[in-house]
Amino acid sequence: MTSDITTEKRENTKNRKRKRVNPATLIPAPMGPELLKKDDKLRSLTRAYVTAFSIIAFISILGHIVTAHITSRQRDNANVTFRITNIRSLVDEVSSQAATFHATGNSFDDTLLGGDISDLQQKFVEAEASGNDDIDRIFHDPRYQISKSMKIFVQHAQDIGRYERTGHPDKATAMLKALTDQQRILGLNLDQALRQYRTHVMEEIERAYDLQLYGVLVILLTLLLEMTFIFRPLVKNLAEYHRNILHLALTDMLTGINNRRAFMQLAHVGLAYYKRHKTPFALAMMDLDHFKSVNDTYGHKVGDLVLQHYTSLMKKTLRANDTLGRIGGEEFAIFLPQTTPEEALAVIERFRKCVATTPCPYKDADGAPQNLSYSSSFGIVAVTQGTWALDELIVKADEQLYKAKDGGRNCAIMTKI
Ligand code: GH3
Ligand code: MG
Ligand code: MG
Repeated sequence: MTSDITTEKRENTKNRKRKRVNPATLIPAPMGPELLKKDDKLRSLTRAYVTAFSIIAFISILGHIVTAHITSRQRDNANVTFRITNIRSLVDEVSSQAATFHATGNSFDDTLLGGDISDLQQKFVEAEASGNDDIDRIFHDPRYQISKSMKIFVQHAQDIGRYERTGHPDKATAMLKALTDQQRILGLNLDQALRQYRTHVMEEIERAYDLQLYGVLVILLTLLLEMTFIFRPLVKNLAEYHRNILHLALTDMLTGINNRRAFMQLAHVGLAYYKRHKTPFALAMMDLDHFKSVNDTYGHKVGDLVLQHYTSLMKKTLRANDTLGRIGGEEFAIFLPQTTPEEALAVIERFRKCVATTPCPYKDADGAPQNLSYSSSFGIVAVTQGTWALDELIVKADEQLYKAKDGGRNCAIMTKI
């Protein structure tokens, strides 16, 4: 059975005011299920990104701690070396001054010896009281017995002075020998303890440097993995997400063609081309005839089928570079670039006839295949000269469409400007 909607309700349509559809209501819902799926993927990538970032932050903090440790150990090393070397040279000084006093016996050398001994004692006490654990360890290391040796050494030096002053040169000579032996032992022990300490610190610093190097390698590896497995897919996903959103924002969901927003943007591009090259073009507005009664008679689903059928005919009949758009419910528009008025009318007429002679197949309530004939009216504005805003052209094309409706529908009316 073929029903003809164009003739069914023709009578009561004269002077009926055509409604304009608010473009804001035509933007499709941007969150399809596929976008929600993408959202999950993005969320897990973001989580991985945060984890990688935390690893890098953690290792950076560790690196900072290691650097601080290296600096502190270097400072300790310099401090300990300075103090021990100082004590070491004072030990030599005291020993040599004791020998000088023993040789000369004069009070000036006695004073100098006293000064050297008190210098040595002071430096030693200062070092002990410095609170430096390394010095403490060196002084009390049982292998070197520096603290104990130092006390004996100082005692010997003081004894030499005392023996000289009290007229016991023989005792002073014996004591000087003991002092020289003690100086040798103390000097050797100080040298060895310092050498060992410095080797130990250098090894510690080397290990810290190694740790820093491993840290840098882990950071680089994390960054590389992050770039490969997180950042690249993240950017790819975001780009895809953006493309999808853009597609949803610019596409009419029912028919898959440009929505009003996309059509207007493309028509603006076409208009700009006309302004530059002055090539004629045309804009057609079209509206399905008696579409309300399609819905009322056959149901909204069949109405949707008709809209899709209409769009598929449009795609088949029109030229590749014509821009199609669904402007409102059952209102469509075509921008025909580089088209003379005659060509525009021919193209639109071809399409109109195609619509009027190609019924839309559908299934009735019993599932039986049916065909539904329908038609469409067209208002065309063909531009060959002048400067026009898109809005003005739409108004003009719309006026022609009104005329086509008033003139009985299923026809195309064109104005040339
Ligand atoms: P005219 O020939 O004067 O254009 O009459 P008409 O019935 O086509 O015009 P009217 O503006 O009265 O009705 C348009 C109808 O289009 C009303 C609305 O329900 C229907 N419509 C709009 N959008 C859709 C849609 O997406 N799907 C369906 N099935 N119907 C739609
Ligand atoms: Mg209509
Ligand atoms: Mg309408």
